[in-house]
Amino acid sequence: MARFIFITGGVVSSLGKGLMAASLAALLQARGYKVRIRKFDPYLNVDPGTMSPYQHGEVYVTDDGAETDLDLGHYERFTGVAARQSDNVTSGRIYRDIIARERRGDYLGATVQVIPHVTDAIKEFARAELEDLDFVICEIGGTVGDIESLPFIEAIRQLRNELGRGQTVSIHTTLVPYIAAAGELKTKPTQHSVRELTSLGIQPDVLLCRCEHPLPDTERAKIAQFCNVPKSAVIPALDARSIYAVPIQYHGEGLDDEVLRAFGIEGVAAPELRRWDDIVDRLDNPEGEVTIGVVGKYVGLPDAYKSLQEALVHGGIANRVKVHTRWLDAELFENENEAEIAARLEPLHGILVPGGFGERGSEGKIQSVRFARERGVPFFGICLGLQMACIEGARNLAGIAAASSSEFGPTDEPVVGLITEWDSASGRERREAGGDLGGTMRLGAYPALLAGNSHVRAIYGTGEISERHRHRYEVNIHYKDALEAGGLVFSGMSPDGELPEIIERPEHPWFVGVQFHPELKSKPFEPHPLFASFIEAAVRQSRLV
Ligand code: GLN
Repeated sequence: MARFIFITGGVVSSLGKGLMAASLAALLQARGYKVRIRKFDPYLNVDPGTMSPYQHGEVYVTDDGAETDLDLGHYERFTGVAARQSDNVTSGRIYRDIIARERRGDYLGATVQVIPHVTDAIKEFARAELEDLDFVICEIGGTVGDIESLPFIEAIRQLRNELGRGQTVSIHTTLVPYIAAAGELKTKPTQHSVRELTSLGIQPDVLLCRCEHPLPDTERAKIAQFCNVPKSAVIPALDARSIYAVPIQYHGEGLDDEVLRAFGIEGVAAPELRRWDDIVDRLDNPEGEVTIGVVGKYVGLPDAYKSLQEALVHGGIANRVKVHTRWLDAELFENENEAEIAARLEPLHGILVPGGFGERGSEGKIQSVRFARERGVPFFGICLGLQMACIEGARNLAGIAAASSSEFGPTDEPVVGLITEWDSASGRERREAGGDLGGTMRLGAYPALLAGNSHVRAIYGTGEISERHRHRYEVNIHYKDALEAGGLVFSGMSPDGELPEIIERPEHPWFVGVQFHPELKSKPFEPHPLFASFIEAAVRQSRLV
C-alpha cells in the first residue's frame, strides 16, 4: 500500500515547499521507488485557470487538460511523471462538488458540514488513483495557521490516525531567520509554527529549516528539543545555486534518509544520483553563453512564465551553454521608433514571443517578430507568439494590412479567429462564443502531424507528436494560401488538417511558431527538442554578432 508524506509550511509563504516536494520525490525515485506528488490549494477558485498570472504565476496544463498550480510543473520536471487532473485540488473544487451533491439531494437530509463532508472529500482525493505507488507526497498550499487551510490539516490528522503511524510521515518546512544586528539565527518562529501544527493534532516527523546561513549544531539541537523530533530530523536547507542542485543538496543534509527512517525503512541502498550530478555539472561548467529576449506582457513576474524559463535553461543544458533571459515588456515597444526597438533587440541571440492573453502589447510583439524575421535572428513563437507571427506575415508579406485576431475585437481580416468546435480524443468539443471562461479553452494534449521535409520534423525526429494546448483562438485555415505566399509554411497540422499547429520559415535560420506549449513537457534530463534546437541556433547567432 502507498505510504503518505504530508508537507506543510510554517512561518512565511514562498519557502519552496513545491521544490522540496519535487526534490524529495526525485530522491525517492533515485532509490527505485514509485512516487506521485499531489497539491492541495486552499483558495476558492475551482482551478487557477481564471486567475491572473500576476496573482498566481503560470497556469500549468496537464496532458488530461487540467489547469493546475505551477508546482505541478516542478513535480513533472523533477520526476518525469506526467501530472494529472487528479494531482491538484482546490477548496473551490471540493465545495463546488459538495454543493452540487447537496442540491441533488444526495445527502438525504443530513446537515452538510466541514467535518465530515469537506474533510472526507479531501481524504478521498488524497487516496484516489494510487495504483502500484510506493509513496504519495501531498503538499498543502499556504501556511499553517491560515483559516482556509484548516480543513486540509484536519484531513491529514484524520488520515494519519486511520492509516496508522508507519504509513504516514509529516514534514514541516519552516524559516530560521538571520538577525544581522545580533549576528544570530533565530529558532523561535520555528518553535511557534510547530506548536501551532501540534495544537492541530499533527506532530511533525521531519523539519526542513530554510536558512540563509549554516545552522549551527547548537541551534539544531535546540529546535529538536523544543519541537520533539530527533536532531537528525532537523534538516538545514540553505539556498541552492540552482533549483536542480536541490535534490543533491537535500540528500547531503539527510532529508531522504530521515524520511525513510521515520517510516521505519532502514538499510536501503543509496540513491542513484548520476542524472542530477550531470545536470549540475552542465549548469556549473558552461562552455558559452547566449541571451534570449522574451517579449511578453507579464514580464514583471517571471513566475508567470515558470515553465518557459526552465525550458530555456534545459535548452542550455542540452548545448552546455548558460542561457540569460532578458524579459522585455512588449508594451514599451509601442511608443518607440524602429531604431529604438532595434537597439533593444540587436544584442539578443534569439527572440521568443510566449503565450499570453488580450490585446495589450500585441503590436510590440508583432514588431519584434518583424525584427527577428528581417534580421535573421532565431525566432520562437509560442501559442500567442505563433498567432503574432502569422499576423506579422499577413500584414507585411501577404498584403493583408488589416490582419488581426478576433481576440482583440471585431476585425475584417480574422487571420486568428475564435474556435467553437474541434475534435478531441473524447469526441467533438463545442463552445459558446459568449460562454464561461473557466475550463473552456482547447486544453491538454492533442496530436499533430509534421510535414515530411520540414525543419520541425528534423528537430523532433518523428512525424507525429503530442503537445499540450491552452488557447481559445486559432490561425484561420482560410488564410493558409495567403500566408504561404508570404513565405510561411504550415509544417504541423491537426490530424484532420483543420488546425494549424506549427508554422516555420524555411528561408530563415530558425523561425518556428507553435500553437501549443512545448515548455510544459521539457525536463532538465530530457530537454524539449524545440528548446534544444532554438538554443543551438542562438549559439550560432552569438558567433555572428
Ligand atoms: N490568447 C490566445 C488564445 O486564447 C493565446 C493563448 C496562449 O498563448 N496560451 O488563443
